[in-house]
Amino acid sequence: MSTNIPDIQKKILGWRCGNRCALPECRKELIIDRTESDCESITGEIAHIKGEKPYSARYDPNMTDTERNSHQNLIILCRDHHKMIDDQPNTFTVEKLCEIKKQHEVWIKESTAKQVIDITFAELNIVTKYLISNQPQPSNSFIIISPRDKIKKNGLSSETERLITMGITQVRQVTDFIDKFPDIEFGDRLKQGFVLEYERLRNENQIAGDDLFYGLFDFASGKSNDFKVRAAGLAVLVYLFEACEVFEK
Ligand SMILES: [Zn+2]
Repeated sequence: MSTNIPDIQKKILGWRCGNRCALPECRKELIIDRTESDCESITGEIAHIKGEKPYSARYDPNMTDTERNSHQNLIILCRDHHKMIDDQPNTFTVEKLCEIKKQHEVWIKESTAKQVIDITFAELNIVTKYLISNQPQPSNSFIIISPRDKIKKNGLSSETERLITMGITQVRQVTDFIDKFPDIEFGDRLKQGFVLEYERLRNENQIAGDDLFYGLFDFASGKSNDFKVRAAGLAVLVYLFEACEVFEK
């Protein structure tokens, strides 16, 4: 991956692209799971749509470096396809790459949404493990606010609202799962883990709106490449979104 790109841009891009190559004929998974003795391996690369340096493919001199390294100008690809788009800039024009990036983000969202109706306790068990917190409860209580009101107040896009609406269909199943869990404090620890991550993302990374939602989504699904696990992450996120006073009132 290029070194000049701020870490937060890398993360935002990863959240939206599902960590897969954006080329529709490829869509290869770009994170290889950790093993017992090693951490995960990232095999993807971040490519610039409009080139990074004057000699790079699709370079635009009228752009600032901040614009060049913003997530709007970045696309995640496997190594082979990163090389291909830079070797063939007449085929892979700025317009073509923007369209590929947009289509890929839509595909990731739709593939996740399709799995929402099929999630089971098995996937919920996986994702809640990522979210659980062993830290003590904060003193403030959780107040239920309509998700629709929260969406408006948090500046989320209609696409994100659609994802939330999909997740709402499974909130009852998440509630059931939490109620049947042997540890009676499980639900509270889940909420607390979520609140801590929300505060970390907002305060350390200074992000809001859709980016914050995707950050939490990535956290809730443990960066999984499996669409069913991602769908379970979405359901748990929407459950917590309803149950916690996390997004601004
Ligand atoms: Zn590829």
